[in-house]
Amino acid sequence: MVATAQDDERLRAAVFGWLDDRVAETGNLLSRRDLLDAVVADRPMGLIDAGRGIRNPAELLASLSVVSVPDSPYEDVDDGSGLVRYAFRTGDPAAGDNRKLVEAVRLGVPLVYFLRVQPGVYSALYPVYAVEVDRNGAGVLLDLTGAGDGVEPLGVPASEQRRYAASIARRRLHQVMFRSRVLLAYRSRCAVCRLQEPVLLEASHIVGDAEGGEPIVSNGLALCTIHHRAFDRHLLGVSPQFEVRIHPRLLERTDGPMLLHGLQAMHGTALQLPAKRADRPDRDLLTSRFERFRLAG
Ligand SMILES: [Zn+2]
Repeated sequence: MVATAQDDERLRAAVFGWLDDRVAETGNLLSRRDLLDAVVADRPMGLIDAGRGIRNPAELLASLSVVSVPDSPYEDVDDGSGLVRYAFRTGDPAAGDNRKLVEAVRLGVPLVYFLRVQPGVYSALYPVYAVEVDRNGAGVLLDLTGAGDGVEPLGVPASEQRRYAASIARRRLHQVMFRSRVLLAYRSRCAVCRLQEPVLLEASHIVGDAEGGEPIVSNGLALCTIHHRAFDRHLLGVSPQFEVRIHPRLLERTDGPMLLHGLQAMHGTALQLPAKRADRPDRDLLTSRFERFRLAG
């Protein structure tokens, strides 16, 4: 049976719905097994290929996903184009696995970009679009902004648009990688209270994006949503000796169990550290952050 454009659209949408649920449940730490054994719209629909980087389900007109195995800290978004290059499998672009990736360019369908964050664990970035076959015919160029071939604002030079697209793509990529790597380093537990529920966990920056903090694990802490917000608002601090402190304003109050157990009882406790030394919070970054906590009114 030959798939129609409507079949493709319907099934692709169902895949995205499946991913929305799994990403929320797992904190976007998707196991290889889970992705290979996915059942979507009552039929087996592996989201990655068991042996290749490109997944081309027979039921779809074009590729569904590509897997990226970053060797540098983060995938490279080209500043000049705002796009990421994804190399074809060796061979003819018009044949085999590559053909459906070229079809994805032609049809403009959304794809899933899987980032392998550690062996057997993937994080999904979607939707992304394959927007052109690269000049040498060696691969396709992916737009990670999620906008595809969006309408370009009038009166803005093309070079500026590309620079803007590159910064959006990079931010989107870094957010996913930072979050996944921080949660993995902390074994998906809050570093303050040890809560182990992906739905309630976030990766916080010690020194924020806007202040020049890098999206690397040693500038991150895995925190539950309450402790993340408290950390952001300087109601909770972490000393350079990895000790949790609670702001006097909260220590002096009497309230229900969340304040008592969730916050006051954490005062003076040791931060739960990642097993790997290189993943632990950078003491210099903590020092500057802790200073702000101490000065917060
Ligand atoms: Zn917590």
